Amino acid sequence: MVQISQKQRHKTYGVRVRGVMVGGAAPVVVQSMTNTDTADVDKTFAQVKDLFLAGSEIVRVTVNNGAAARGVVSLRERLEAAGLDVPLAGCFHYNGHTLLNDVPELCTALDKYRINPGNVGFGKKRDAQFESMIEKAAEHNKAVRIGVNWGSLDQDLATKLMDENAQRSRPWDADSVMRETLVQSALISAEKALNIGLREDQIILSAKVSRVQDLIAVYRELAQRSHYALHLGLTEAGMASKGIVATALAEGILLNEGIGDTIRASLTPEPNGDRTLEVRVCKEILQSLGLRSFTPEVAACPGCGRTTSTFFQELAQDIQRHLDDSMPEWRKKYPGVEGLKVAVMGCIVNGPGESKHADIGISLPGTGESPVAPVFIDGKKAHTLRGENIAAEFQALVEAYVEKRYGADQDKAA
Ligand code: SF4
Repeated sequence: MVQISQKQRHKTYGVRVRGVMVGGAAPVVVQSMTNTDTADVDKTFAQVKDLFLAGSEIVRVTVNNGAAARGVVSLRERLEAAGLDVPLAGCFHYNGHTLLNDVPELCTALDKYRINPGNVGFGKKRDAQFESMIEKAAEHNKAVRIGVNWGSLDQDLATKLMDENAQRSRPWDADSVMRETLVQSALISAEKALNIGLREDQIILSAKVSRVQDLIAVYRELAQRSHYALHLGLTEAGMASKGIVATALAEGILLNEGIGDTIRASLTPEPNGDRTLEVRVCKEILQSLGLRSFTPEVAACPGCGRTTSTFFQELAQDIQRHLDDSMPEWRKKYPGVEGLKVAVMGCIVNGPGESKHADIGISLPGTGESPVAPVFIDGKKAHTLRGENIAAEFQALVEAYVEKRYGADQDKAA
């Protein structure tokens, strides 16, 4: 697989967020955000734990009032007691300066402060409130994400840039001015933060919009005009396949250009839906691009008129589930197993070919084919399965392959 080399990746400062590095030479980091009331520590703890165990390497929580601020402090204690070393980011709007002042333990309980320059305060108070938050981050050596969002654009800057645009002999269109406002807002705020006392390696920038083409254009500009670590996210991406496709396209295109040090999928969950979907989507984006490996891959064909039963879909699903369920233990026991490639194919047309490309693959019999299923291991036909127990036997072969290739005795086996 063609991979983005470190050389091709946009050069950024490495920012430490608790035990996780963002930017520099670090792999692209997966993030997520809770949707519980942060003051409800039980619910927030449960969701942070779910997100973290699903693979979110940084988890963001809303810090919107005193109860939420105190909730974060309790949350950190609960996480420590449970042995969960989760980097926590706090999302502030309007009153972050007050909360960080009023609840001093909040400053240390969080590992990263997210500050939105468009929502930091109004009029004369704005600069002072921004300064107060940055000073806290500098004092406690915390990372800061300067996160601008087109839903809360800095209106003074937008007005200034619109006025400047009106003076141009060929004025830009309104969208271009909006994008330039986002970029400048992020860069000017970062400059201010440096002047207040933050270091470059404490700053992460984001500029979120909800349209794919706008996101790509804005981040290309940010990458060209700075070396701050970049957090990618398509804001208000939407629900289900629409949100997943738009996020994967926008972030995938940028990541493929070497832009982006950490990502989030801002999906709207179904009512009572599984919040960890946004983590799985991020991991799949990174794994599909060959940037990171999290879990063994199952290549399965889509099926067609040559597969009239659901047997092969069920087998593909069972194998994927088995691999996912086994990973927590396998990760400790079998280093490198996340790179395993398994193929489950529906018939002879592409089955043997695809199976040979995998580490272990099975080509099931399509309609009208002889009821046998050849299994290929490391590119060679190794077994032929038949009868009622093909699924269980293939699963056992996968287990044996993993043990032999990634287990402690692999050297002896080789
Ligand atoms: S491998 Fe066979 S069953 Fe699968 S899509 Fe191709 S032709 Fe159809």
